[in-house]
Amino acid sequence: MEIEFYGATGRITGSCHIVRANGWQLLLDCGLIQGLPEEEEHNRDDFPFDPETIDAVILSHGHIDHSGRLPLLVKRGFEGPIFTHPATRDLALVLLQDSARLNEREIAYKNRHEKGWFAPPIEPLYGLEDVNATVNRMRPLKYRETKEILPGVVVRLYDAGHILGSAMVELRLSENGRTKTVVYSGDIGQYDTPILYDPSEIGEADVIIMESTYGDRLHKEKEQTLQEIESIICNASHEKGNILIPAFSIGRSQELLYLFGKHYHEWELGKWQIFLDSPMAIEASKIYWDYPELYDVEATKLRQQVLEMPPIPNIRFTGTSNESREINEIENGAIVIAGSGMCNGGRILYHLMRNISRPECHVLITGFQAAGTLGRKIVEGAETVMIRGDEYSVKAAVDTIGGLSAHADQRDLLRWVSGFFSSPKVYVVHGEQSVKERFSEQLQYESSLESHIPVPGEIVQL
Ligand SMILES: [Zn+2]
Repeated sequence: MEIEFYGATGRITGSCHIVRANGWQLLLDCGLIQGLPEEEEHNRDDFPFDPETIDAVILSHGHIDHSGRLPLLVKRGFEGPIFTHPATRDLALVLLQDSARLNEREIAYKNRHEKGWFAPPIEPLYGLEDVNATVNRMRPLKYRETKEILPGVVVRLYDAGHILGSAMVELRLSENGRTKTVVYSGDIGQYDTPILYDPSEIGEADVIIMESTYGDRLHKEKEQTLQEIESIICNASHEKGNILIPAFSIGRSQELLYLFGKHYHEWELGKWQIFLDSPMAIEASKIYWDYPELYDVEATKLRQQVLEMPPIPNIRFTGTSNESREINEIENGAIVIAGSGMCNGGRILYHLMRNISRPECHVLITGFQAAGTLGRKIVEGAETVMIRGDEYSVKAAVDTIGGLSAHADQRDLLRWVSGFFSSPKVYVVHGEQSVKERFSEQLQYESSLESHIPVPGEIVQL
């Protein structure tokens, strides 16, 4: 029995780990690499295995850095089942279709403008037909349902509290009379977050493969986060500007809308025009609506009130690009939630082009920004940024709200791992190198757990 570390090991995105047991070969996630263009080129690389030899995939959640290379895996010959939560299957369909369209557009642009005259046209990574074939391979598995997916391989998913349908994966592997339990954390959500339940306590494992995105920092207290959002809205109102919120279509957009509904009067949102300017976020919001059984107690209560009275009367869902373009005419009083969350594509770019050089406007950053993305440059205080080939000076106020992150901070990560009573060995993945090192030290000193940071291609025996 062994684990081979592959993706989200040397880099933060592109999650993918290979587990071998009892003659089977499984994948935990198969995500897309996101970041600098030269990094993203690696999405085209060969897999370090023949996709035909993979017996099954277990998908932790829908985010593209965990799911986005699955259609390529299928395109290159994978024919097995993909086990995942039903809500993840629904979200993955929307996200992967979007990923395919974005890639097709990007490649068409490259073929027109960047490719030499005589070079053969570049192929998109995958198309919509590959996405459909991938989603058709998905087999729904509910939280805490135990399933022997292959002889000697028993899988159970637990609610990770990260986005709708997000799961931690427990694998019980048996080979030659020995049994080992591997827990893969996927992405771990924050405790006490809007809408979703807290990350589940699992209890026992021999080995944990654990994310560490925010393993070196603490998010602000929830109350402080709410006060910060209120004061940003209040300032922007006095300064007569717009507020742009680059948001991941899944998770953050729904949480923001939930908070806007809950604090509608307190934050004087009635005087704003609010836009959810993302066809994908609109789709995802509908899927969130379809799974009320996954909401925590507070969200369930609010949902019941919503059925009687919509809490945000002045919100507009701008599905078409014409509707989106109309937002550009608004000089002040607009709150625009648009993707992509790291500003590396999508409609947020057009809103940034109109507003980022205006000091009365605000850019509200609510999620993780990977190195190399436009969002990261804005957060790090770049004086000028390039958007679609033109340079813009950054004059708008940039506010970062860490407390809304979908990822657990160091305290939450340690809280989750301390729920194991079996002293598992922890393999730290999915974090920037310095963060993984800090977090690994914390695991050893604070939680007295043996930990290790694997390098890509490293194989560990169980
Ligand atoms: Zn995620």
